[in-house]
Amino acid sequence: MMIITFLPEPPNFLQSRPHKKSECCSCLCRDFQWLSHLPITGELDGATLRQMAEPRCGVSDEGSQRIWSQRVKVIFTGGRRPQHRGRRSASQGEKWSKRHLTYQVVNWPQHLSRGSVRLAVQAAFQLWSNVSGLVFQEAPEGPADIRLTFYEGDHNDGASNAFDGPGGTLAHAFLPRRGEAHFDMAERWTLNGHKGHNLFMVTAHEVGHTLGLEHSPVRHALMSPYYRKLGRSLVLSWDDIVAVQQLYGKPLSNRPVRLPGQVLHAALQQWELAELQSQSQTAGLPLYCQGVFDAITMDQNETVLVFRGSVYWTVSADGGVSSPLPLRQRWPGLPQAIEAAAFSPLDSKWYFFKGRRTWRFTGSVLDPTFPRMSSDLGLPRHPDCAFYYAPLGHMVLFKRSRYFVFNLKLLRQEPYYPRRLTDWTGVPPGTNGALTRPDGRLYLFKDRQFWRFDPGKLQVTRDGQWAEDLSWTGCSNIPQSNNIL
Ligand SMILES: [Zn+2]
Ligand SMILES: [Zn+2]
Repeated sequence: MMIITFLPEPPNFLQSRPHKKSECCSCLCRDFQWLSHLPITGELDGATLRQMAEPRCGVSDEGSQRIWSQRVKVIFTGGRRPQHRGRRSASQGEKWSKRHLTYQVVNWPQHLSRGSVRLAVQAAFQLWSNVSGLVFQEAPEGPADIRLTFYEGDHNDGASNAFDGPGGTLAHAFLPRRGEAHFDMAERWTLNGHKGHNLFMVTAHEVGHTLGLEHSPVRHALMSPYYRKLGRSLVLSWDDIVAVQQLYGKPLSNRPVRLPGQVLHAALQQWELAELQSQSQTAGLPLYCQGVFDAITMDQNETVLVFRGSVYWTVSADGGVSSPLPLRQRWPGLPQAIEAAAFSPLDSKWYFFKGRRTWRFTGSVLDPTFPRMSSDLGLPRHPDCAFYYAPLGHMVLFKRSRYFVFNLKLLRQEPYYPRRLTDWTGVPPGTNGALTRPDGRLYLFKDRQFWRFDPGKLQVTRDGQWAEDLSWTGCSNIPQSNNIL
């Protein structure tokens, strides 16, 4: 069977049952520890298990160390590729014999528009053709050398390759010449939003495998087994480029082109905006209704604002939904996307959070001294969500298993916080947005689920699917008057 010839079955690093020491093949474990910069003990210790739970590619790390040390040897001894010994010998079956390859997106992820996925996939292939002798062409139909497919759970390439739902294993791919990359359909895929995994980055990594590249120990390499966000820096590291050029040579122009993340970010943003605007002209529910959003809040007119990537939507009190509006047009000075947002009725100001920074606006005007470092205000970086909470008279930020209480008058954290999220009985960690409705109840959102927290009872009193059950999210066609919530 092909899968055994070209790819050993990846060990399931993310199985929920506890590992026993006897189960660990110490050789595989050593490869894993080496790639992860952990002490190489060959044993499944605590640090190794924690690292195994990080979002990553599902391709096995076996042999990566040997292949990488050979690559480095070539760099120092010049030009020639050393003969491989053992299983992956003599480049048989580990690279394509032609330079012109076709690819196809077989099916499509939910919650993203096809047009922007197509452009992102094209850009992912182009990353590699820019620095190597390869040329790629999309084959929308018929046979194709490399096929990209989204699957849920077990999909007939071995039980240990079954996908595990959101987080954990994001995707995996086969070395040449099977020409297949598989993606977990259940992931929160995004191209521009900040919550979720960037489909462009994961595609670019998996394409690397389909070309014959194995995992790299270089931390900033695209071929590192761990998920990396699309940042500002160059997407391909020197190690990625050396690896692909050793297989396919330099580009025809002899001048490799490397794209910084910033350029790709701007492109992804533009494509998504263009798609969103063309989609909103054809009737239908707004795009965020099918998926996740980055943040949600409500202003003094009871208008709900939903933020995703570089745009936001408004849902007025009578249920009217706007088309997607550019974020930075209303709040100049914000970054391209945000992680948490809250309107505060206490001071009638807008608060935005992303990474290490906090922004505060009066209307559309950025307040003096902002943006500020969140740490100077006593706040966490990368908060899950933020909301004004009337019973405390302060703003509350959630971050994983803790919450922070922020005094808006003094601009500092209240004493005795952060505290554990378990104070909010029934609220799960990892929510992506929260807001208080006019009746004083707090709604928290995570993916497609919501939880309604009753401040009087200090517990969650209802949960469900927000797009179906809450008409004020702008996603259901039920008239407002019939809304039981
Ligand atoms: Zn990988
Ligand atoms: Zn698969």
